[in-house]
Amino acid sequence: MAWVVEIDTDKCNGDEECVNACPSQVLEMVDGKADPVNMEECLGCETCVEVCTEGAITVFEN
Ligand code: SF4
Repeated sequence: MAWVVEIDTDKCNGDEECVNACPSQVLEMVDGKADPVNMEECLGCETCVEVCTEGAITVFEN
């Protein structure tokens, strides 16, 4: 089982809140949108989900 982080780029407003809040440096900004570039480092804490004001992030186990 591994954590999967999905970001709806249509909803992402590029405020970088999730990038700054993630304790595991999973997320980076790519072309003005958050991108889970280090998804294998995800802890499944859902901090990114909580800080996103746009409801753009989904975290689940796969
Ligand atoms: S669930 Fe936690 S570790 Fe995973 S991307 Fe979100 S903030 Fe980072």
